[in-house]
Amino acid sequence: MSLIVKKFGGSSVADDNKLRNVARIVTQSRADGHQVVVVVSAQGDTTDDLLEKAAALNESASRREMDMLLACGEQMSAALLAITIEKMGCPVISLTGWQAGMQTDSNHAAARIKDIDPERVRMELDKHNIVVIAGFQGINKFGDVTTIGRGGSDTTAVAFAAALKADLCQIYTDVDGVFTADPRIVPDAKKLDAISFDEMLELASLGAQVLASRSVEMAKRLRVKLEVLSSFRECPGTIVKEVVKMENMQVSGVARDNNVARIALIGLKDVPGVAARVFSLLAQHKINVDIILQSIGRKDAKDISFTVAAGNLAEARALLEEHRESLDYEKLEVSDRISKVSAVGAGMVNNPGVAARMFEALAAAGINIQMISTSEIKVSVLIDLADSDRAVQVIHQEFFGG
Ligand code: ADP
Ligand code: ASP
Ligand code: MG
Repeated sequence: MSLIVKKFGGSSVADDNKLRNVARIVTQSRADGHQVVVVVSAQGDTTDDLLEKAAALNESASRREMDMLLACGEQMSAALLAITIEKMGCPVISLTGWQAGMQTDSNHAAARIKDIDPERVRMELDKHNIVVIAGFQGINKFGDVTTIGRGGSDTTAVAFAAALKADLCQIYTDVDGVFTADPRIVPDAKKLDAISFDEMLELASLGAQVLASRSVEMAKRLRVKLEVLSSFRECPGTIVKEVVKMENMQVSGVARDNNVARIALIGLKDVPGVAARVFSLLAQHKINVDIILQSIGRKDAKDISFTVAAGNLAEARALLEEHRESLDYEKLEVSDRISKVSAVGAGMVNNPGVAARMFEALAAAGINIQMISTSEIKVSVLIDLADSDRAVQVIHQEFFGG
C-alpha cells in the first residue's frame, strides 16, 4: 500500500460533474489499495471573484481580512468534494488547512509554511478515511487564518507529501502534463514525459503556471516525487525529478510572463554608487528587480532600465518619485504593456547559439527585443505585450518545429 497526495486545481473541481469526476479518481485510487490525501483549490474563478467582491467594498482591505475571505474558496471545495465522495459510499473527511496542521508565518497573503503537524491527517488515514485538505491556507502563531500566495495549493500538496512521506504527489490539472510551451498558445506543443526539477523551476518562475514555482523548489529540496497529469483524460503525465536525460534537447520549453513592468530612469549621473542607491531603495521595500540594463555613460549621464512584477509597479514608481532629488535623475518612464518570453533548457550550457537562434526567429517575425537576460539554462527577452503570443509561437517553432 502506498500513500499518494493528489492535488486538484480550480478547473478540475469547477462544477458538480467535475467534482464527481474527481471523486471517482480518488475513490478508484483508494479501491486500488492506496491511502489517499487530496488537496483542493477553490472552484473555477472563485478566488478572483472573491477578490473582486472585496475590492467593490474596499480597495485597500487589510491582508488579514483578505485571507479570511480567500480561504473560504478552498474550504468550500474541500467540503463539496467530501460530500460528493460520501455519496459514493466511501469514508472521507474534509479538513481546513489549519485542522490539517499547516502552520505558517504571519505574512498574510504570502505566508511561508513553517511547519506541518501531520498527526490529525495520519489519524484520519488510520481510520481508513480519504482525507480532503483545503489548499492554499494555514494558521499563524496567533491563531489567524493565512494564505500562502496565488497558486499556493500546489505548494500545499507538496508540503503535505513531504510531511507525510508520501510515495508520490500528483498534481491534476486541465492539460495532460508539462508541455514544451503553454498548449493554449502553441496548440502543437509537445508533452514532456519527464523534466528535471531545475528546468521545471525555471519554467515555472518564468511564467509557466502549470506548477507554482514554490512547489517545485520545495519538491526538489524535500525530494518529493512529483507528477503533473490531467484530471479529464486518463494518460501518463509528466514526471518531475532530479535528473532527466535529454542530451539532444538544447531547449526543453518556452515560457512567458505578462505580469511584468519596465521602469526606466533616464539621465542619472554617471558616477559610482548610483545603481547601488536605486536598487537598495527598492530592496529595502522588498521589491524584487529582475532584468537590469544600464546604458554606457554619455557625457556625464547614464540610463538604467529594469523590470519588476506588475503588482509592484505602483509602489516602485511612487518610491522612485519620492526620492527623485537624492537619486538625481532627469526622467522616469514606465510601461506595463510588456511581456517576458523565455527559452529554458539545461542543454544550453554546452550549446552556444541558442540565444542567436532565438533572436533570429524573433527578427524574422519582425518582433523587437527591448531587453535581454541570460543564465546557464535560460534566455529571456522583453518584448511588447502585443507580440507575446507570436513570440512564444515562433521561438517554439524554431526549437521544436511542427
Ligand atoms: P489549475 O487550476 O489546475 O491549478 P492552472 O491554470 O494553474 O491550473 O495551470 C494549468 C494551465 O497552465 C494550463 O491550462 C496551461 O494553459 C498553462 N500552462 C502554461 N505553461 C504550460 C506548460 N509549459 N505546460 C502545460 N501547461 C502550461
Ligand atoms: N485558489 C488559489 C488561487 O487561485 C490557490 C490555488 O488555486 O492554488 O491562486
Ligand atoms: Mg495552478
